[in-house]
Amino acid sequence: MTRPALLPLYINGGFEEGSARFDNISPVDGRLLSQVVEADAAQVSRAVKAASDALQGPWGRYSAPERAAMLHKVADGIQARFDDFVAAEVADTGRPLHLARTLDLPRAIANFRTFADLAVAQVDDCCETPQADGGLLFNYTVRKPLGVVAVIAPWNLPLLLLTWKLGPALAMGNTVVCKPSEETPSSAALLAEVMNEAGVPAGVFNLVHGFGPGSAGEFLTHDRLISAVSFTGESRTGSAIMKAVADGVKDISFELGGKNAAVVFADADFDAAVAGVARSSFFNTGQVCLCTERVYVERPIFERFVAALKERAENLKLGYPDEDGVDLGPLVSRQHREKVLSYFALAREEGAQVVTGGETPRFGDARDQGAYVRPTIWTGLPDHARCVREEIFGPVCHIAPFDDEEEILSRVNDSPYGLACALWTQRLDRAHRLARRVQVGIVWVNAWYARDLRTPFGGSKLSGLGREGGRHSLDFYSEISNVCVKL
Ligand code: NAD
Repeated sequence: MTRPALLPLYINGGFEEGSARFDNISPVDGRLLSQVVEADAAQVSRAVKAASDALQGPWGRYSAPERAAMLHKVADGIQARFDDFVAAEVADTGRPLHLARTLDLPRAIANFRTFADLAVAQVDDCCETPQADGGLLFNYTVRKPLGVVAVIAPWNLPLLLLTWKLGPALAMGNTVVCKPSEETPSSAALLAEVMNEAGVPAGVFNLVHGFGPGSAGEFLTHDRLISAVSFTGESRTGSAIMKAVADGVKDISFELGGKNAAVVFADADFDAAVAGVARSSFFNTGQVCLCTERVYVERPIFERFVAALKERAENLKLGYPDEDGVDLGPLVSRQHREKVLSYFALAREEGAQVVTGGETPRFGDARDQGAYVRPTIWTGLPDHARCVREEIFGPVCHIAPFDDEEEILSRVNDSPYGLACALWTQRLDRAHRLARRVQVGIVWVNAWYARDLRTPFGGSKLSGLGREGGRHSLDFYSEISNVCVKL
């Protein structure tokens, strides 16, 4: 029997093993995919020290165009091993092959190229200030790297979300220590190889594997040499990290959970709205922070909409990632499935009508050892039900009717989260009016998950702190100093 691969750490330009290991299990069929080295406290500390030292090395003297050229080389390296990366993402997450090919990989490549180019193109302010004595003050700003950035990523879009932070952090001259999710370590391990092959100087990019509390994640956020933490994950993890970095007053960028709404007005293009809401609720098996879990439909079309969404959900094909016509893979792990199933049980206790789903499928093969659930739709819950207020992070939505614009605005805003909202209407006056008042960071009108990397991205309330994307990323990953010169 061949031994499973061992995924090493990458510290100061070298691959490292260690005594502690954990298993990487397939969510498709429960197979052992690989073993992963779990970084101990000393290894995390060495990774951070290497990143800190690398700021004083050649990397610290690279100009923005030189850094950009290096990041384009990293993007070329990912492109050259496209199929290896696809295989790694699909193995860890179980998602359909076509999704990794058309979403994860192109976005990971774009995350390096876009921020490399933006960092070269960005120009800062300068101004002259006349003085009472007739003299002039000349002000200009310079950007400096923050220092060592800890990048902590979740499992739902592993490479896409890791590189979304790495691209701008490196483009602005920082050094990084990354910790991918313990559930999805494989594509980050490949990325370390690409960084090495691209000639990224030792210490600029470091990779530590492990868990959160009592492991690599916690060690990283407590390290005094870290200047900033860029984190994507659950809101309560964000809160724990905030406490960890409070004493050092470190910079933080948080992209956290959501309980996103879709609002469908009776005047909407009905078919487009049904297709859009089906996609936003079930895409990637509901495991995107932007997925819709609350759907509000104007009363005259409520029954018809529920029936149409039910039909869509029941036509989605669950299966192996490489199966023809597969729409949905499993959830990321059996552990996460337990959480989603607990909400299926809770919904029944809270009085939901189960329109479709609410259970696990039976395949009669190895997939029964995996983490599949059926796409699920509920109706009939009150707005205060836990299933309507808490993030579930699975292929599930609750649909409720509404009667007018003011009412729906207050119901959408009555949420502890504030990440995204999709409005489906053909009346643009109404869409613009609501878009200004809905308390979220991202509003889509007759669309969902369409992204331009130059635009701001982030959430309000429990959904996050700060914005990334375009110049917002450049601002977060740099320290801006004003220089004032008396002329
Ligand atoms: P998670 O918070 O459990 O874990 C995220 C990362 O944090 C992992 O690498 C984990 O090991 C690490 N971690 C956990 N505890 C830690 C601690 N105390 N200190 C330091 N690191 C710690 O999140 P998850 O389950 O991996 O991801 C799903 C969540 O991510 C959902 O809530 C989803 O909405 C959110 N998410 C948000 C966005 C966004 O852009 N807003 C994008 C994707 C996912």
